[in-house]
Amino acid sequence: MAPQREWFEKDYYRVLGVSESATAKEIKSAYRKLSREYHPDANPGDAAAEERFKEISAAYDVVGDSAKRKEYDEVRRLGPASAGFPGGGAGPGGFTFTDGGDLGDLLGGLFGRGGRRGGGRSGPHRGQDLETELHLSFADAVNGVTTAVHLTSDATCRTCNGSGAKPGTLPHRCGNCDGSGVVSDNQGLFGLSAPCPACAGRGVIIDDPCPTCRGTGVERRQREVKMRVPAGVDDGQRIRLKGRGGPGRSGGPPGDLYVVVRVALHPLFGRKGHHLTLVAPVTFPEAALGADIVVPTLSSGPMTLRIPPGTRSGRTFRIKGKGVPAPKGAGDLLVTVEVAVPAKLSAAQRKAVESLQTASNGESPRAHLGV
Ligand SMILES: [Zn+2]
Ligand SMILES: [Zn+2]
Repeated sequence: MAPQREWFEKDYYRVLGVSESATAKEIKSAYRKLSREYHPDANPGDAAAEERFKEISAAYDVVGDSAKRKEYDEVRRLGPASAGFPGGGAGPGGFTFTDGGDLGDLLGGLFGRGGRRGGGRSGPHRGQDLETELHLSFADAVNGVTTAVHLTSDATCRTCNGSGAKPGTLPHRCGNCDGSGVVSDNQGLFGLSAPCPACAGRGVIIDDPCPTCRGTGVERRQREVKMRVPAGVDDGQRIRLKGRGGPGRSGGPPGDLYVVVRVALHPLFGRKGHHLTLVAPVTFPEAALGADIVVPTLSSGPMTLRIPPGTRSGRTFRIKGKGVPAPKGAGDLLVTVEVAVPAKLSAAQRKAVESLQTASNGESPRAHLGV
């Protein structure tokens, strides 16, 4: 699991009143004792006790679990918090995130979860959602394709991996605030605290800023994001690529990348939801006498379609399963036949058509129109 923001802020060992080297058994028994003492049932209506009970539970949730505890210790060892917590003033949590603090940014960078940008407010911020377009051929949209989008956007700096420090150097703990990022005016229980002016609340000082991002941990660059386009996407559809947007700030998660699909027209096929459409010209004799005609499909080659005798122009035939693939069964290919009228006739053709005219015995197909 990923480190939690609270891990930088809370001293769970202190909450449970045990040392950092306490055994699992000691932690468990401390937790049992405290949770009994502060349990809401034992302290009806006591809001402070309830708050304390919640803290105890949250602390035990982390340090009472060996895997989480290991990660928590690691986070604290790597972070400025490893120096210990400033005494007093900051309440039982011991450590306070303050405005202007980019400490989380730095740690976020160390943990490969994005960088930060400029100064600004503290606290984890989710990265920006970004949007880009992807142009697809008709066939790729229908059948699905593995491709990539290219965009220029903010991204975690590759030189420093988001830490802001020149590779080979490490940010050092700010001496002014002892790494907390806060200076507190320690008066009584509720001391006022302000961002440390020496480190701008970061808790660390970067002596050698990364030359690529000038210490921000973020660079603007061309990115290639590989993606799988599912079969059957349609023009204008948005595909969400979770976590592929802008980098998060202060250890916040990255944003999402939305890819808007633009599908090119096909010279032959059209789309009607999950069905494909195709217009197939037929001759008058084929329509009148019936015929087996060969039509193309998008993904499985030519197929034979049987046209029954007496087929009128504009009739649509359905070829099952030759439409757009879909999880619940593919759509169909809808073939609309259109009787083609030749623009020019050879002498022999002309004679044949004229004999057809004679054969129809002067019966007009428009008789029912009453004119
Ligand atoms: Zn950098
Ligand atoms: Zn400082």
